[in-house]
Amino acid sequence: MRSKITIEQWLNESTLPLPEKRALVCHVTKLSQVQTITHGDQRLWKKDLQRLNELEAERKTGMPIPYLTGEQEFFSHPFKVNPDVMIPRPDTECLVEWMIENVPEDSTVIDLGTGSGCIAISFALERDDCEMLATDISPEALAIAAKNAKTLGAKVKFGQGSWLDAVPFERKLDVIVANPPYIEPKDEHLQALRFEPLDALTDHNDGLDCIRTIVKQAQSRILTLKALAIEHGWDQGAAVRTIFTENGFAMPTTLQDYAGNDRFTIWQRLLRFEDSDFEPD
Ligand code: GLN
Repeated sequence: MRSKITIEQWLNESTLPLPEKRALVCHVTKLSQVQTITHGDQRLWKKDLQRLNELEAERKTGMPIPYLTGEQEFFSHPFKVNPDVMIPRPDTECLVEWMIENVPEDSTVIDLGTGSGCIAISFALERDDCEMLATDISPEALAIAAKNAKTLGAKVKFGQGSWLDAVPFERKLDVIVANPPYIEPKDEHLQALRFEPLDALTDHNDGLDCIRTIVKQAQSRILTLKALAIEHGWDQGAAVRTIFTENGFAMPTTLQDYAGNDRFTIWQRLLRFEDSDFEPD
């Protein structure tokens, strides 16, 4: 049964910001953004109207839109998300861009704490010369990541465990990347993120605990590793570079996100002379 309310009327009456209410209409009616305009005079099905009103009420409690629609775009791919995983952030796309341009050919790359799988999958879709592994401690997160890999057609091997503990030491690894929890528990910003899994956002200590653990674990593989890249907070660049150098990853560099904030620190093995094109005159 159709209700008396048209799509246009619902959009006019909802007090949510336009992009949010449009996202909810698209999700419920299965229409595209453009169709919500061209079919604006279409009366909503009663069940759709009821669902939209429920979702609007949930949104007003602070529930993020991606958890309501079950989807978040990252690197132009639609990723399934639910409250078991952190919602992918555009800042992290800079890390993926860096990987695509800098990971040496035919590398085995591992993404630690993969969550929705957004880093591993986006990279794997661009660089099929590489072998992509991804780990997470949460089986629920791995289930979503595996589903995303399948839907998006990416070849990623998943393993469960804490950071590198998920991988046998004999396993060849060339590049390690991670976007670990790095928000300090006292950061007021955390309150706004209360619908996301807390353990994916904070280490419950000083924001650097997980980064210390990952870099220490990576240190045991330093002889064969070619690169290490870790995302962190805008004010953690200097501290993370110190953790890198203290563990033997000399001369790390901190790079910025699209907003110009320090966002990830990288270390790359210097080429040996026989590998480089450098020829003295
Ligand atoms: N960048 C995220 C935020 O500040 C946090 C990501 C993380 O802890 N890994 O919302």
